[in-house]
Amino acid sequence: MVATYRDSNTITADDGTVVVRGWIQDIRNLGGISFVTLRDRFGTIQLTLIKKIIPEIFAKVTRLTRESVIVVTGDVKVSNQTELGLEIIPSDVKVYSEAITPLPMGVIDKVNVDMSTRLNNRFIDIRKAEIKAIFELKSIMSQLIVEVMNSNGFTQVYTPKIGSSGAEGGSTLFSVNYFGKKAFLAQSPQLYKQILMSTGMDKVFELGPVFRAEQSNTNRHVTEFISFDGEMSWIEREEDVMHMVETVLDYVLKGISERGKKQLEILKKEVKIQPIPYPVITYAECLKIVNDAGLKLKNCDDLGTEGEKIIGDVMSKKGVDFYFITEYPEESKPFYIMEKDGTSYSFSFDLDYKGQEISSGGQREHRYDRLVERIQKKGLNPDDFTFYTDAFKYGMPPHGGWGIGIERLLTKMLDLPNIREAIIFPRDPSRISP
Ligand code: ATP
Ligand code: MG
Repeated sequence: MVATYRDSNTITADDGTVVVRGWIQDIRNLGGISFVTLRDRFGTIQLTLIKKIIPEIFAKVTRLTRESVIVVTGDVKVSNQTELGLEIIPSDVKVYSEAITPLPMGVIDKVNVDMSTRLNNRFIDIRKAEIKAIFELKSIMSQLIVEVMNSNGFTQVYTPKIGSSGAEGGSTLFSVNYFGKKAFLAQSPQLYKQILMSTGMDKVFELGPVFRAEQSNTNRHVTEFISFDGEMSWIEREEDVMHMVETVLDYVLKGISERGKKQLEILKKEVKIQPIPYPVITYAECLKIVNDAGLKLKNCDDLGTEGEKIIGDVMSKKGVDFYFITEYPEESKPFYIMEKDGTSYSFSFDLDYKGQEISSGGQREHRYDRLVERIQKKGLNPDDFTFYTDAFKYGMPPHGGWGIGIERLLTKMLDLPNIREAIIFPRDPSRISP
């Protein structure tokens, strides 16, 4: 009879008798009177137990441990001693589950617990309102992405996560034993979403996990993340894709600041909305800025964490959080990106947010012969990609797209210190459990 339970945030002084359930966050025993803070998903409410009036319930509850789970029937009373201005005087308490002591870590203690302990005990960690709020915002973000993509005519698709080859270079492929054959976990839906462009689906998107065997132990890389990919046909240049990306982000950011108000309040954060279009800066300009700042990057080098941060600082001084970086040398971009004929550039872009790459995208090579040439040029064997290149033989429109790591977006939006804070059970080179 779930419907008869009341959430803590809905209770008012006129409610009379209510039934609430949750975790005992705290018990303060003061002799003949005991105050219990009961926590549910929405907040906390105080139970006040007076020994003289309810001796049996008093005895039963006061011996319980923190984080035990109970269901309480009781009368709501006005109280000027509590945050809500309310308290519940229990008339019945049922204990569902008693928590063992000591807890592996506290929920309300002000002690700083290191991230590793927190991640090992996520089942406790997420009981904290400020941790739970992050994942509620992530859920709102996913919902907003689906909404804005649908309203722009994109079809949501699901591409395989096990396959025979990768899209983003061999060094970050996880191999799996597929009935005795070697297979790989998907590094991105790239090749599949492009194949779909040949079918006339025109605009597709996917929100799903991808896997990268990246050994780097940084605060922005994990080995499994959620990629938000879009691919669209009939584009004329990479700018068409960039415009779509900024339109989508604008919707998502505005939506989060409206629908995520409560969570943002808990986190003491505000989402800054930057008007579109987002500024554009070329790779060559970036290279000059970072080298003037003392780095020694050569043409085609990845800007790297440090380089991206330097650019981020320069942009932040201009009040800019989001900016596109364009005109990357084709050499530094994957085979599926289109070259800008007569130059060494490619029709690609990155989108950086507060000094960190959150997205890469661009116009793709849709001409079969040129695509096969690019695969060879990258030192790959076209025979490994026929499942993909075949789709370019029988009519393929010009197209382009992007991939956004949604945890990078969330991390930067909330200024979290580490991408792992935006993943419930993160995976990295030294963590595959819990
Ligand atoms: P970086 O240079 O930061 O390692 P990348 O250029 O290798 O990223 P892409 O292949 O362009 O990444 O992937 C598209 C997007 O996926 C990135 O912009 C980022 O948001 C996200 N992403 C890539 N690798 C990771 C990772 N290891 N962990 C989390 N997100 C990632
Ligand atoms: Mg990239």
